[in-house]
Amino acid sequence: RQMCIRDRSNGPTIAFKDIAMQFLGNIFEYLLVKQKKTLNILGATSGDTGSAAIEACKDKKSIDVFIIHPKNRVSEVQRRQMTTVKSSNIHNIALDGTFDDCQDMVKDLFADQVFRDKHNLSAVNSINWARCMTQSVYFFWTYLKLAQSDEELSFSIPSGNFGHAYAGWTAKEMGLPIKSLLIATNKNDVLHKAFSNNTYEKSKVTQTLAPSMDISVASNFERLLYNLFDNNSSKLAEKMRSFPENSILIPEDKQKLVAEFFKSHKCDDEEILQQIRDTYNEIGYMLDPHTATGVRASNMISPKEHPVVVMGTAHPIKFSDAIERAVPEYISEIPERIDGTLKQKENIKILPEDYSQIKNFILKSAL
Ligand SMILES: *Cc1c(COP(=O)(O)O)cnc(C)c1O
Repeated sequence: RQMCIRDRSNGPTIAFKDIAMQFLGNIFEYLLVKQKKTLNILGATSGDTGSAAIEACKDKKSIDVFIIHPKNRVSEVQRRQMTTVKSSNIHNIALDGTFDDCQDMVKDLFADQVFRDKHNLSAVNSINWARCMTQSVYFFWTYLKLAQSDEELSFSIPSGNFGHAYAGWTAKEMGLPIKSLLIATNKNDVLHKAFSNNTYEKSKVTQTLAPSMDISVASNFERLLYNLFDNNSSKLAEKMRSFPENSILIPEDKQKLVAEFFKSHKCDDEEILQQIRDTYNEIGYMLDPHTATGVRASNMISPKEHPVVVMGTAHPIKFSDAIERAVPEYISEIPERIDGTLKQKENIKILPEDYSQIKNFILKSAL
């Protein structure tokens, strides 16, 4: 039995992080109001994470959001998802440069300690604990919907920063009958290597058709390591201090447990396209390139008789280049939310790659 979650994309950014991000925005606002504080969120995006942060924080009174994206280097759908949000606390900056330039700019702004402290600068990203915590609920919900009597289910998880996978591990630790987690990666295979060789080692990033999984280290993997080091933070801290120069070995007495619970599979772009094509031809369902890695992993490494749930991560319309390559004749249905943004007015401040101009722009509106 193979099952596919069809309800992947009803949130505001049509991605699986939405429920967690909505919770995050609300809990931020709740605590800030209670503590009479304000927060300025600052981030760089190559497309996907920006809209999630914006949707999470729009219309919040205690939060201002500044998202920097590389001008003309983000797809139209992804740009419009960010720039058509009508809320006075949302500020989109298009920087005349690459995504790396945007990231460097954000780093420089965070390094400005006086500025950072005065305006309570913060990042919203996938290593926030609230995201893992909230997403562990997806596993319980799914289990209750799909498991027959008290059987064990396995989950296949398209993985980048290991946030959702860690949420699954958390659910299992809380007692949910999960048999195993299939960790699906694209060509950026730090996680696949970690589970195949018991060694966590930073790698180079290559661009793939599943860009939300293009990472060189999996930030949330540190959380699993912490558990594997018997929740001993000084032991882990010692290892992390010399990482990434030195790789980290999964403790020997935990290797068997890890190998039994975590399986992994790596998928290159050709396999992603092939899986999108195959699934479309077989059941008429259009996968996005990230979810395709999860279906692939489930097909390649799980025993046929065992039920596996593939976690869907995004709506394919966000990655239309890949879909066009996989199934050229496919005409995608445009979800209502996207259709709306295609018609609305955009709000963008275009700025050169110039530290003081960007800082001044932020200072004008920051809380
Ligand atoms: C965030 C994301 C992933 C990876 O999830 P992690 O929890 O960081 O491992 C995969 N696909 C999509 C579409 C995403 O947005």
